[in-house]
Amino acid sequence: MNEANHSLEVNPGNNMKHTLIFLAVLQLAPLAALHAAETPKPNERTKPNIVFIFSDDHAVQAIGAYGARLSEFCKQQGVTPNIDKLADQGGFFVNSFCGNSLCSPSRASVLTGLLSHANGVMHLEKPITPGLWTFPIGLKDLGYQTAVFGKWHLTSKPDYTDWRISFGHGSYENPELESATGKEKIPGYTTDVITDLSLDWLRKRDTSKPFFLAVQHKAPHRNWIPPTRYATWLEDVEIPEPANLFDDYANRASPASNQKMEIDRDMAMDTDLKVGGRYAKDPRFAKRNADYAKLKPQGRDLVRWKYQLYLKDYLRCVKAVDDSVGRITEALAAAGLAENTIIIYSSDQGFYTGEHGWFDKRWIYEESLHMPFVIRWPGEVKPGTRFTEMIQNIDYAPTFMEMAGGQAPASVHGRSIVPVLKAETPADWRQSVYYHWFSTGGHMVPIHYGVRTSRHTLAYFPATDEWELFDLEKDPQQMHSEYANPEYAATITDLKTELTRLRTQYGDTEDAMPAKGKKAKTAKEKEAPKGDAE
Ligand code: CA
Repeated sequence: MNEANHSLEVNPGNNMKHTLIFLAVLQLAPLAALHAAETPKPNERTKPNIVFIFSDDHAVQAIGAYGARLSEFCKQQGVTPNIDKLADQGGFFVNSFCGNSLCSPSRASVLTGLLSHANGVMHLEKPITPGLWTFPIGLKDLGYQTAVFGKWHLTSKPDYTDWRISFGHGSYENPELESATGKEKIPGYTTDVITDLSLDWLRKRDTSKPFFLAVQHKAPHRNWIPPTRYATWLEDVEIPEPANLFDDYANRASPASNQKMEIDRDMAMDTDLKVGGRYAKDPRFAKRNADYAKLKPQGRDLVRWKYQLYLKDYLRCVKAVDDSVGRITEALAAAGLAENTIIIYSSDQGFYTGEHGWFDKRWIYEESLHMPFVIRWPGEVKPGTRFTEMIQNIDYAPTFMEMAGGQAPASVHGRSIVPVLKAETPADWRQSVYYHWFSTGGHMVPIHYGVRTSRHTLAYFPATDEWELFDLEKDPQQMHSEYANPEYAATITDLKTELTRLRTQYGDTEDAMPAKGKKAKTAKEKEAPKGDAE
């Protein structure tokens, strides 16, 4: 009514034609006013903005909210207060997984919604198959502005509108970032630099459009250089050790004992732990260098000593990432964007924080298979929800598309988790996830693939024709394969059927299983590209 009356006042209308139009407007006005007063349906609301904060190698064990191995410690020490707050105000997924636990492959799956064998990125340094759809293309078509800052770690050029990224690993200090206009070294600590660039973009963006902003941190990837402000934080604290820090790899297939990712024999004193070498005289690491010279730990004492240094540096890097989450959350609130912006925190895969005596990732085993997934979506995700549904990185692209009011192409492997977020999980939601690791390079983790259900993990290693079965209820640390246990015969049959079903569904024919009654062919071990060791 007000709109119509206002029109009458400013446009008095001197002839019959105008008068008739104004009368018609007056008649329609009550209906329009009534419609405006109705609660808008979700698909008629302003499209939400999405901020996707994606770190590198951040294990769920090192997040307070998760109730995982170091969660209590993280809460006590305030390692992840901002990520925990997001989980409190929104929710988090305890069964969120990758499909190939390595940096570039996970990123390619996030972008394409496809598993590695279908998007071309089975290893590092492989491009996404040219011409494949990615979600930034889809979001642009839906009218979104898209931007990515930080670690990209793919050889393909981004499909984002704005980008400033490192195509490789990048560095912890003074990172050199590339944009459409060239490369530039930016002074500062990488996590802070990436956050500053993201917030700067947020301030300067076109406010007439919804946005998707990806903040992609390098941290806490190896070699775990903390920011100066946290250089001595946690120095006098003892980090709890995992019960299997001195795992002997008995009762499992041969690969578990043949890897090269043990804190004991494979973690470098100089480059990883900053003791000796180029860090010998670095004032930030003076105490550890002096301690080592004084204590000269040996044997298990040395492993324990290395574990403490490793974990402290790792958590210091995590703490800086958490600061970034806090800054971004506050900036969104200050800009009045808190209510209509979805914030997601995730990392490209999990990591071993000493479990099995390891660092690094790659395996189908729990610590590297899990990805954190924390989401705050005001009005849609019930605060404090602990989701148990199984989700995977192939779900991100279709999820972003549905959040933006669109749909991913039918060819993607993943499925939108939006109904799950709205507590409307479809009855046919997945009950298992498929995993395939493709490279023997770096850390000597052989090709393997398998299936993980809510209760079991079944893995196959084609090079040695070995299987492993873990009962996660009985053996959550995965210390004893039950594959040879006759009590599990029926379970194994069911899981093999499920594994074959998943391989067929996704069209993965790589590293085929031997036909019944036949011996496995020696798997064609794929040569690890340069740099795969990271
Ligand atoms: Ca990674």
